[in-house]
Amino acid sequence: KNEPFVGRRYESTAAASDASTPPAEKYEYQAEVSRLMDLIVNSLYSNKDVFLRELIRHVFQSIFKCSSDAILANKCGWIFLLYNIKNTESSAECLSWTGICNASDALDKLRFLSVTDPQLLKDGVDLDIRIQTDKDNGIITLTDTGIGMTRQELVDCLGTIAQSGTAKFLKALKDSKDAGADSNLIGQFGVGFYSAFLVSERVEVSTKSPKSDKQYVWEGEANSSSYTIREETDPAKLIPRGTRLTLYLKHDDKGFAHPERIQKLVKNYSLFVSFPIYTWQEKG
Ligand code: ADP
Ligand code: MG
Repeated sequence: KNEPFVGRRYESTAAASDASTPPAEKYEYQAEVSRLMDLIVNSLYSNKDVFLRELIRHVFQSIFKCSSDAILANKCGWIFLLYNIKNTESSAECLSWTGICNASDALDKLRFLSVTDPQLLKDGVDLDIRIQTDKDNGIITLTDTGIGMTRQELVDCLGTIAQSGTAKFLKALKDSKDAGADSNLIGQFGVGFYSAFLVSERVEVSTKSPKSDKQYVWEGEANSSSYTIREETDPAKLIPRGTRLTLYLKHDDKGFAHPERIQKLVKNYSLFVSFPIYTWQEKG
């Protein structure tokens, strides 16, 4: 079902680091997480597009009318992909409904905390989301300049289901007799981060919290009961703040790593994000 890794393409960057680098530590997922990942990967495969929505933020297309800015053709650079929110009447309803969004949540959290702690923004880094695709290798990178995670937060957030939205989803899925209800349930609760494994063989989360002076990398693979955390030591991969999520797509899903496809997905899901989203566009 899942293609094996091809060659050395997916080799961890840890291999390239020097001997003084602390080794990656291995953790087992909480049992519920493994169950959830199984469910996601095995029962929701027909609804794969959902991963992008889950990783950013979604609302009903019918509630918000968004007008996307045209994508500039033949230009290399970050393309501004945000729309203007035209209809904000039902925003309260919408916001309570959305539940899941990670990049945008992380930016919201940072913006919120910076009201009482302006030091958080002292680095002058803009609050935004950038999506880059590598179609030759089937890799999608989604970077936000939000709140990031400490090492402990990586364990708590991406190794357990402490989070209520996901827990509710699991319960609803268990209670539902109708298998076809799955995609509805996803719409209601979202499955969050683990939806990345719908399309990814391997997922890497490199993250820097303002609370920590170190950047950490969480790595997990589809169909594995464990994940690892290590320190980010590659200077080229250090970020001032926030989270860089790298999706190493499954063989059959590499088609997602096209800028046009990502742009279409972002628009299709009428993302409600109060921060700019940029996608990388190759020179035409
Ligand atoms: P939810 O978004 O419903 O909390 P997720 O599975 O999507 O559930 O994410 C779990 C948790 O992981 C989030 O609550 C958040 O604390 C953390 N997280 C995920 N992605 C990011 C990110 N890009 N930046 C900071 N924290 C994140
Ligand atoms: Mg989420």
